Amino acid sequence: MKIAVVGAGTMGNGIAHVFAQNAYEVNLIDISEKALQNGLATITKNLDRMIVKDKISESDKLATLKNILKYTSIAEGVKDVDLVVEAATENLDLKLKIFKDLDVHCGSDTILASNTSSISITQIAAVTSRADKVIGMHFMNPVPIMQLVEIIRGYNTSDNTTKTIMQLSEKLGKTPTEVNDYPGFVANRILMPMINEAIETLYNGVAGVSEIDTVMKLGMAHPMGPLQLADFIGLDVCLSILNVMYDGFKNPKYAPCPLLINMVMANKLGVKSGEGFYDYSNSRKAEILSTQFN
Ligand code: NAD
Repeated sequence: MKIAVVGAGTMGNGIAHVFAQNAYEVNLIDISEKALQNGLATITKNLDRMIVKDKISESDKLATLKNILKYTSIAEGVKDVDLVVEAATENLDLKLKIFKDLDVHCGSDTILASNTSSISITQIAAVTSRADKVIGMHFMNPVPIMQLVEIIRGYNTSDNTTKTIMQLSEKLGKTPTEVNDYPGFVANRILMPMINEAIETLYNGVAGVSEIDTVMKLGMAHPMGPLQLADFIGLDVCLSILNVMYDGFKNPKYAPCPLLINMVMANKLGVKSGEGFYDYSNSRKAEILSTQFN
């Protein structure tokens, strides 16, 4: 089975890494040559980290890298592939355009998967001529480490497509979990209201940032408090997922906290902007990012 991954950013390079390490040939596609170079540099760095930890050998690393080819054109990169995993920027119009292109350039049996965090798989499938072969394959960040793949069945996704993707995810050493296509799916439908409530608790002056995170870490055995997790995910991403659920369900319980909206407008986006609920000066940022792979 040959795979194409569209998007070489945070998620795309992780997804390419995991397929390639499991002996699949991967065409990694991005419109940006720089993103492809950065993506491959990240994969190389993460493989080196695994060597240091004795999880793989030098020859495993070379074999993994050999399995990945770079492309800047979808038409070129998806020729002869059996599965495309789309992990491009989270933007509805962009994803609809990419899936229209994929439908034109892929063979009629090719399965088209999206790693979207919040966009409807049914809506994406509707712009293709193969809605039965469109599915959500929601990997978690960092992909080489996290066990879960949330498998999202669109309204028209077939049993065959679901079975193929569930089995493939298991071959990658992951635990796939099947869910239906409603706003936020399962992971974000439960996670985002918790994060939003933590922000609301801060906004209402009930407790400070570190107190809220300490309660959830030590009291609920969460590995990371909800405010720190929001910083890692990106406050803009949290806001956009909450808005998708708010619009999709028309239910005020998903309304984003005004403090979250203000922080995003002020460009306090978390780790990626250097500041969110916590301060990430350069040295601290490097230290925190490196602990993600421990
Ligand atoms: P990112 O911004 O790190 O990477 C996106 C990449 O897509 C960029 O390299 C960009 O150049 C590329 N791209 C944009 N338009 C393209 C096109 N037309 N063709 C090919 N490549 C194109 O984003 P990310 O965080 O990796 O997120 C990717 C997807 O994964 C999104 O749908 C997001 O919702 C989802 N997701 C993200 C996370 C996370 O923690 N970051 C977790 C789960 C799911």
